Amino acid sequence: MDTGAIGDLVDKLKAMQNDNVEDQDEYDDVDDDDEEEEHEPITLGFVDKPKNKWSLQRQYFPSKAGGVPAWLDPLNIPSRGSFVCDICGDPLQFLLQVYAPTEQETAFHRMLYVFMCPSMKCLLRDQHEQWKHHPEKPSRSVKVFRCQLQRVNPFYSQECPQYNESHKPAGCGAVLCDWCGTWKGDKLCSSCRQTRYCSEKHQAMSWRAGHKIACSQIQISSPVSGSNKSGATLLESHKGRGSKNLWPEFEITIEDESEYNRDMSEENKLSNSLILRNRTDDTMNSIFDSFQGDADKKSWASFQECIDKAPEQVLRYYRNTNAKPMWPLSSGRPSNADIPGCSYCNGPMCCEFQILPQLLYYFGVDNEVDSLDWASIVVYACEASCNASLPYKHEFAWVQIHSPSTAL
Ligand SMILES: [Zn+2]
Ligand SMILES: [Zn+2]
Ligand SMILES: [Zn+2]
Ligand SMILES: [Zn+2]
Repeated sequence: MDTGAIGDLVDKLKAMQNDNVEDQDEYDDVDDDDEEEEHEPITLGFVDKPKNKWSLQRQYFPSKAGGVPAWLDPLNIPSRGSFVCDICGDPLQFLLQVYAPTEQETAFHRMLYVFMCPSMKCLLRDQHEQWKHHPEKPSRSVKVFRCQLQRVNPFYSQECPQYNESHKPAGCGAVLCDWCGTWKGDKLCSSCRQTRYCSEKHQAMSWRAGHKIACSQIQISSPVSGSNKSGATLLESHKGRGSKNLWPEFEITIEDESEYNRDMSEENKLSNSLILRNRTDDTMNSIFDSFQGDADKKSWASFQECIDKAPEQVLRYYRNTNAKPMWPLSSGRPSNADIPGCSYCNGPMCCEFQILPQLLYYFGVDNEVDSLDWASIVVYACEASCNASLPYKHEFAWVQIHSPSTAL
């Protein structure tokens, strides 16, 4: 076993928890430096294959992309209308989650989750919806949830978790959909009365993919009395039978952007340009040519220049700096008035992080005309991290796509 890797993880988590409980002084220092805010480094996120499967489980508070979410509150996960695409009605797919605790006692653990509908058609419709100011019923294909817990909570020990496979969180979670492994399995297969689904859509997909046969076998091998108590834990750890429909799973690792500001050697340039060649160069040049206005061209060029320092970044984390998101295009940017207030405390929302389209390259999403694509997704969250009674609070995402004029 790779003990070095475990040591790294422990250090990472300890550092995170120390930030919360001990280093108040450091926070004060940061405040003192406000005048130099422009130079405060922002944090970049990169994806990596997980060193081991268990380190992405919820008891280790992972930042991760693809696969299934690690639900911080594993019981009260979003259900009813909130887990589906408001446009096509299908369950949303897990994009990524970021562990971002604050110094507040009520946010000792704090996780932000981003889900989206994999349909580009829906994302183009979503584009129109986000411009409608504070609609009563937003109709979105991208949704963000915030979940936070106090240090003392029913699900996790107050101490730093031990990094080994046998460490289990207290309490088990909700039974999840057998197909997506993401959402609550509220619907029971009426034939075997064993298998659970989040939606009719996933039940139908599972049926076609083989549950039709498995269902009759389940009925024979386990009579109704065998509906097992351990089911919840068992299902919680499995990845969902339809997991090949999910995006591939990665760990998100972080680094300060300042690490990349020094000149790169030729060697680095070569290896880093991999992404540019495959995903960016060809398409990006044609995108660039398609821009009508000089403003877009200028903003695109400076965005690329900034990203090129670390072309493999998939995430830019801003919350603890006064930095603003880098918009790839000048058109389709929100003004302050376009960002709603927190729907729970009415307070302002602040820019928390930005998701770059490089993530789609790692997810292996095709580069076809109708493939899912975006220029930028910027996530805004309640500045106060308010503690409304709802376990998973809706936050806000602004999506910028490359050519909004060609929508639909
Ligand atoms: Zn949809
Ligand atoms: Zn499902
Ligand atoms: Zn069945
Ligand atoms: Zn709030």
